[in-house]
Amino acid sequence: MDEKLIKKTYLKKISELEIYNEAYYDKSNPIVSDHEYDIIKKEVIDFEKKYEFLKDIASPSSNVGFKPSKNFKKQSHKVPMLSLANAFDKKDLENFEKKIKNYLNLNQEFEIAYSAEPKIDGISASLIYEKGKFITGLSRGDGKEGEDITLNLKTINDIPKIIKNKDFPKEIDVRGEVYINNQDFKKLKDKFANPRNAASGSLRQKNPNDTKKIPLRFIAYTFGFEKGLDVENQTNFLTKLESWGFKTNPLNKNITGVKNLIKNYEKIEKKRNNLDFDIDGIVYKVNSFALQKRLGNVANAPRWAIAHKFSANSGVSKILDIDIQIGRTGALTPVAKIKPINIGGVVVSNATLHNEDEIIRKDIRIGDIVLIERAGDVIPHVISVDLKQRDKNSKKFEFPSKCPSCGSNTIKEFNLLTKKKDAVRRCSREGYECEKMAIEKIKHFVSKEAFNIDGFGKKIVENFWNIKLIRFPQDIFNLDFSKIEKLEGWGKQSVRNLKYSIEQRKNISFEKFIYSLGIRHIGLENAKILSKYFKSLDNFLFFSIKGKFEDLLNIDGIGETQVNSIKKFFLNETNLDILNQLKKILVVQNTSLIKKNGLLKNKTFMLTGKLDGISRAEAKSLIEVNSGTTISSVSKKLNFLIIGDKPTKRKIKMAKDLKIKIINQKEWLKMLNLSR
Ligand code: NAD
Repeated sequence: MDEKLIKKTYLKKISELEIYNEAYYDKSNPIVSDHEYDIIKKEVIDFEKKYEFLKDIASPSSNVGFKPSKNFKKQSHKVPMLSLANAFDKKDLENFEKKIKNYLNLNQEFEIAYSAEPKIDGISASLIYEKGKFITGLSRGDGKEGEDITLNLKTINDIPKIIKNKDFPKEIDVRGEVYINNQDFKKLKDKFANPRNAASGSLRQKNPNDTKKIPLRFIAYTFGFEKGLDVENQTNFLTKLESWGFKTNPLNKNITGVKNLIKNYEKIEKKRNNLDFDIDGIVYKVNSFALQKRLGNVANAPRWAIAHKFSANSGVSKILDIDIQIGRTGALTPVAKIKPINIGGVVVSNATLHNEDEIIRKDIRIGDIVLIERAGDVIPHVISVDLKQRDKNSKKFEFPSKCPSCGSNTIKEFNLLTKKKDAVRRCSREGYECEKMAIEKIKHFVSKEAFNIDGFGKKIVENFWNIKLIRFPQDIFNLDFSKIEKLEGWGKQSVRNLKYSIEQRKNISFEKFIYSLGIRHIGLENAKILSKYFKSLDNFLFFSIKGKFEDLLNIDGIGETQVNSIKKFFLNETNLDILNQLKKILVVQNTSLIKKNGLLKNKTFMLTGKLDGISRAEAKSLIEVNSGTTISSVSKKLNFLIIGDKPTKRKIKMAKDLKIKIINQKEWLKMLNLSR
């Protein structure tokens, strides 16, 4: 990489972090997980280490948090409120200790005592006391200036308002963490991703009366400036804090040696899921204030402290129960209901166990203590069982041999490709005879890629099913709206909207129609192939009575697995009835062949963000039908970037850099002589 490109990449990462910082610190509504954030931050810092010519004032290596919000009065911190350096393993800790000893010119055998304090994942606050009275409370802000949130902090019971102890300094700012208990978070979990964001969002409300409604807590752990504090080390300071009426962390410990720090870390990590507050690591602070003073700070963190972080994508929890979920195609998926745990900023309470074979292989049981992993968008899953912690009375989990929903036999199919029995056990019914499968089929029918009925989400399907408004897809088009209007959460306008969305979708392409049926092994691609082969719903229906299934094997892209599945679908009376009922209600467009010289000929497109009233799949097919091409990354080959709602900023920036034309949905539809 040449110097220019290195600098460009580096600055791009920094501006990305700035966007994430604003969302996280200012809006209390992060747009990426902590893990993703930390990866980019590390990349920036690694860049700076590798290329000395790099340094930007906005770099995370010299900055803390985010500038104070305009909603509050600003006030400078007399002593800056810094961030903490991070350690992830033993090597990082050894380096930390080595650097301290070198800096202080201490013999490597010298034993440093540390205060090890579980790091509560909340937001820090600084409480200024004068003559024993709580005067002003500030948020950390950008470390130099904080927001004046005194009135909000005053609503917190854990914060003493008056301290009369004789040894309480004349002036001091006591610092600590404002957080929310997991139990209390349960009531707020629809509004915030995790307890940390809930605490930050609640504490920084404009109106203190809104803050008052939230049971925020405060744990004290340090101080900024002071006049008249007579303490020599952190452990004694923590004891003093308690005597003055502050809450401190009951798991704080005084520890010597890296080996013992790790022992304590492992012990606390195991306990983590039993605590009622989230911790994301352990902070180690050189205990002696005299040594702390000599060590001082680097740009944005003290030299004398480090945060030993827990893994950002795994955590230990307990299996409370094992649920068997039944999918659209009848697959029985075991799901572990676990004691909720915060993994990398997301509260996890379910983990997939994949299938019966996985449970047998790992001998997973109810009551087990397990290691859960959550990586990227993948559903959290169980990595391993801690056999040492297994209760001796625990029993092997018995996978049901009958479908828990309809009671019919379950089977493991023979896979034609792998020539082995499937790991997945399935309900042997074809579909609508099994309640759980039927619900999933209807969810698929209304989903984005299928009928795309706006406002008809999964919850609504379940709700309408429970009150017997729907049993089959055709029922969606014959809903009793007067009944819906009377339901809780519904009103005249929302019913009108739903009616409109359903009405709009009565006209559908044949390819989408096939996909919506949810025939196993017939995804979007195969539905497209079949629609080209059959051309119309009439032909499709005619085939169901008179056709030879073997003929389908001649279609390019359709194999034995798909043909068997189509056969099974057509041999079911209910499915045939659904097809005939839908035929009466819908206008299913015949498949027209793709135009060779369409309006978008020789033009390439890429989509980013959500389009209005049109799904990704439909937009792509519209481009293709009109002889255009869709591509999946921004490059010189791209002619048009179509942006919808909440587009990926990175893609827009790349397109701008490459001088690619950026258009909105309206402009794109205009190219097609369409307006929607
Ligand atoms: P930090 O949270 O890693 O460490 C500093 C903070 O630790 C202090 O300000 C204090 O609030 C807290 N703390 C808790 N207990 C403490 C104790 N006993 N002693 C001292 N401090 C204690 O640092 P940071 O700079 O505030 O934030 C970085 C973290 O925020 C990372 O984990 C990062 O992933 C996350 N973050 C996430 C996003 C996102 O978009 N997801 C954006 C920005 C930051």
